[in-house]
Amino acid sequence: MKQTVKKLLSQLGYYRILRSLKSGTTLLVLMYHDFANSDEAGSIGSYLRERVSHAQFEAHLSILAQNCRVLSVEQAVNEMAMDGELAEDTVCITFDDGYRSVYDIAYPLLRKHDLPATVYLTNDWINGKMRLWWEQLADMIADCSLSNKMHGEIEGVLGIELGKPIVSESDVRKKRFLLHNSIAGHMRELNDADVSGKMSELQNVLEYDGSKQPPAEAMNWTQIAEMAENNIRFGSHTCSHLNLSHAGLDVIENEILESGSDIEGHIDSKVEGFAFPYGQDIDSYGKIEPVLSKHGFTYACTAVPGSNGVDSNRYLLLRATLPLTESGALLERELLLGLTPKRTP
Ligand SMILES: [Zn+2]
Repeated sequence: MKQTVKKLLSQLGYYRILRSLKSGTTLLVLMYHDFANSDEAGSIGSYLRERVSHAQFEAHLSILAQNCRVLSVEQAVNEMAMDGELAEDTVCITFDDGYRSVYDIAYPLLRKHDLPATVYLTNDWINGKMRLWWEQLADMIADCSLSNKMHGEIEGVLGIELGKPIVSESDVRKKRFLLHNSIAGHMRELNDADVSGKMSELQNVLEYDGSKQPPAEAMNWTQIAEMAENNIRFGSHTCSHLNLSHAGLDVIENEILESGSDIEGHIDSKVEGFAFPYGQDIDSYGKIEPVLSKHGFTYACTAVPGSNGVDSNRYLLLRATLPLTESGALLERELLLGLTPKRTP
């Protein structure tokens, strides 16, 4: 490989992944959230949320089934613990939050290909006790007028500058995408009370009529129990999807315990996995490992992009995403080269 290409791959964070795949010790954990049905596939709402289409997920699974050994994260982690090693090119499939679209779209395809996966549930959402702020935000941005006055007001609410690339973008679809990512990125840094306050202010500024869009739908316990009988594992994503960077350890422990026991009350298998909400603040997650291990969790997933080796900390697993394409050639190349950093809720 030419030095310049090597340098470029290294800069992109890909070279390390390529090298570990070649050495046969990689555990690649793929992260998904929400899926688009065929009516929604080209909509602005799906574009902002980077929803995966049925055809794209089918292409992903075909490539994985042909090129990799697909295990649940639980199986892969147990194998590493038992053997101290991992067979070549092991890939795991994971879903965060518990979107209904995972049951409707992803689960039938997983069954068709006979592949395992793990879903990390946000219990309060599953139990109808909360709405997901980032879903409301996407609805607001999809609907808003994008006036210049609005830019200034958003900046006032968030205390940030949106920047020229957003303000001057002439492609309206792209502009909504950039605006959404900028606001969502800022909100993920805030504590939960501030997110709630800012969302109310944004609702006014963006002149959002909440009655227009039905709230995002979570899977229900009947669907979860059915999936649990058919090769799908379930893990915790906390009860309230709280921002762990700002929460005390006692609050975090309660959320983890309650979430795990609620799930175990609905399915026959044990809850072993955890996924950190937002998942980026890896420096603050070390303190949570003893809590997780004390309560029987065997691993935890971040949303930091990358792949894992046998020596990786199993309570700080990195995850990756495949590009939103149906092209087998492109997917195969991306799978080998490493993967694209993506959204985090
Ligand atoms: Zn999440």
